[in-house]
Amino acid sequence: MKTSQSFIIKNTGDFCNLRCDYCYLGKDIHDKKRIMDDLVLKKFIKETSELYGTVKLYWEGGEPLLAGVNFYQKVVKLQKRYCKHPSQFENQFQTNGTLITQKWIDFSKKNNFKISISFDGYPEMNNLHRKNIAGISSTAAVIHSLKLLNKANYKPGCIITITRQTATVKNAQKSFHFLINKLGLKQFSINFCCDPLNKIGNKKFTVTNKQFYLFHKTIFDCWVKQGDLQIKIPFIDDMLAGLIGKTPKLCYYRASCEDMVGIDYTGIVSYCPRLPKDKYQWGDIRNQSLKDILNKNRNRDLITQTKLFPQKCKTCPWFKICHNGCLADRYGQENLYYFCKGRMQLFNYLKKFLTNNIGKAVIKI
Ligand code: SF4
Ligand code: SF4
Repeated sequence: MKTSQSFIIKNTGDFCNLRCDYCYLGKDIHDKKRIMDDLVLKKFIKETSELYGTVKLYWEGGEPLLAGVNFYQKVVKLQKRYCKHPSQFENQFQTNGTLITQKWIDFSKKNNFKISISFDGYPEMNNLHRKNIAGISSTAAVIHSLKLLNKANYKPGCIITITRQTATVKNAQKSFHFLINKLGLKQFSINFCCDPLNKIGNKKFTVTNKQFYLFHKTIFDCWVKQGDLQIKIPFIDDMLAGLIGKTPKLCYYRASCEDMVGIDYTGIVSYCPRLPKDKYQWGDIRNQSLKDILNKNRNRDLITQTKLFPQKCKTCPWFKICHNGCLADRYGQENLYYFCKGRMQLFNYLKKFLTNNIGKAVIKI
């Protein structure tokens, strides 16, 4: 039995109530209501309980709350029925934050579901890209949800998506201030739009390497100035960990795509959903066991793909803590990580910071 496995579950397919303009899905697909059916759900929960000591489930959708509280009550019931120990399943909603009510908060608290909200930094910045079907910004609804969560003393996580239009130093400062000081959050992650080959139609939102570096650097500077070690921003934790010789956690510093498996509402199992669906499907749990799907198809081409490193990486001083970045963001003839240049600048900046503030001896790279 493998110790731990993470799954990203598109249990509502592409069904979503927002129409964020950088979304990689076609606008028409969002409308069709889809929810994972009971048979697929039951087989999935049962088989994961047999295969892994810890099963981490990220309920992502489309918008996962559109499945309704009843759907997740079934999830909890099945997890209780099949689990091998009480903490075998860990659950997290990755939601756009517009549909959270007291009922969802009560359910999440009672059943220990974490909540992570997609919200782009601060109200004016979020207004720019995250709108509903009628073109109305999601900001007011998200702020309402955050207030409800705050009142219930529930600290959610947050993912901010950065585009070429929003990747400025000022926006980095304002986002940090709003999320940490105004909303009182203790963690957020940053997702950078990247589609230099226009593969999914979002080229105009792709962040440049200079923006990538400056946005990260500014967030890091704000974090240092804040001086609160309780604040968790994954790239800071992982990059600093790598520099002092520890293993970063995130897949895109470790070339470890095998850590993440996707499953959609029909039961189709694939690579991480960041990768193109058609190219990276492994099988269907409606007619195969999860074990067979993962053992037979996954490792062979997944490992080969993730471990392909261009010549530039093989001689790079940062290789051990970079590994050519995220598989979804590799392009060109040699499949070099698109943000290679930005990452190099950032590693240099953090290394200098550690050297000046803690001393050379701690640095292992
Ligand atoms: S494609 Fe990127 S985000 Fe997905 S598992 Fe691989 S490294 Fe991680
Ligand atoms: S910084 Fe660039 S060259 Fe170095 S390992 Fe990362 S992607 Fe490769």
